[in-house]
Amino acid sequence: MVDLKKQYLQMKEEIDAAIQRVIDSTAFINGDEVRSFAEELADYLKVKHVIPCANGTDALQISLMALGLSESDEIIVPDFTYAASAEAIGLLGLTPVPVDVDPATFNISLIECEKALSDKTKAIIPVHLFGQSCDMEPLRRFAQDNGLYMIEDNAQAIGCEYTFTDGSTHKTGTMGHLGCTSFFPSKNLGCYGDGGAITTNNDALAERARMIANHGQRIKYKHEIIGCNSRLDSIQAAVLRVKLQHLDRFNALRREVAGHYTKYLADVAWLKTPTHIEASTHVYHQYTIRVTEEGMRDALSRHLSHHGIASMIYYPIPLHRQPAFERIAHPVGTLAKSDSLSRTVLSLPIYPEMEVALTDAVINTIKSFDPAQR
Ligand SMILES: *Cc1c(COP(=O)(O)O)cnc(C)c1O
Repeated sequence: MVDLKKQYLQMKEEIDAAIQRVIDSTAFINGDEVRSFAEELADYLKVKHVIPCANGTDALQISLMALGLSESDEIIVPDFTYAASAEAIGLLGLTPVPVDVDPATFNISLIECEKALSDKTKAIIPVHLFGQSCDMEPLRRFAQDNGLYMIEDNAQAIGCEYTFTDGSTHKTGTMGHLGCTSFFPSKNLGCYGDGGAITTNNDALAERARMIANHGQRIKYKHEIIGCNSRLDSIQAAVLRVKLQHLDRFNALRREVAGHYTKYLADVAWLKTPTHIEASTHVYHQYTIRVTEEGMRDALSRHLSHHGIASMIYYPIPLHRQPAFERIAHPVGTLAKSDSLSRTVLSLPIYPEMEVALTDAVINTIKSFDPAQR
């Protein structure tokens, strides 16, 4: 699905030097590298605060903790997402309310959010799935009109931009009260281990999130609230400082691969290529196709695998069908679209260094598949 080795070899000197710098400094935790990376990422995203932490799941948990919600408060989440988007909700004794998504964009549906509202609803977590921003203007209005907090799950869309009707453009992760991202190695901005960050323009929330990530302390050994220990280590920060400089180029290369797929798969009647909304750029964390009939997908995946081509199902089980959420989630409606997506989606290999010959091989192998043959 990705070739992390190829990317490393292209940047070997820079990366090796950055890692060596940390080893020489022995400032393995909370060193200058972490501070510098946070500043550089804040500049890149044009956001006031970046709070680095241990991973994207922690970023979501710390963000929810920072909001100071109470047990049984409800949080709206898309039903079709990675479980981490909703895990922290359950962990904190809050109630996840999974809502259906727009099958064309895979992102949360505003109409379903409206149906999900109750007097317990306190927040919404839109997930910019596969690298494309949710339609943030109506979603933000919905959150504002109903007094809800908004936490963007930006783990898959770092570098993506959304344009409002007034012409202003914002990076994903900077449009809600808080944004959460992950630096897991295969993400668009990935490090060489685990890492994550919280982004916000709100000073009070930034201070609370910073405290929570650091054992609830502002002053050393004075613990004002219950927090956790969630840090980005300096070696990861050093790697990320190098890779951040290449992020826009990486995302542009991903768009080229995606453009190639879309152009040459357009005439395949039994599949749909991903829909791209005008207000958002797309950073193609995944390139995900849909087959037109349930039952074709697994045969296509086997066909690709038989020809040595990787593919992945993101995601085979929607939130409302996960055993872990069975007793705590309050799903809204039938969630039929999310169910159908879980049976028809297939993600194809995509990464910045992917060669045209390989993209062509994937396309040709897909075209050699007979959809009648199950
Ligand atoms: C990767 C991911 C996360 C979690 O990030 P980790 O760093 O693996 O904890 C959360 N939400 C989404 C949508 C993700 O893709």
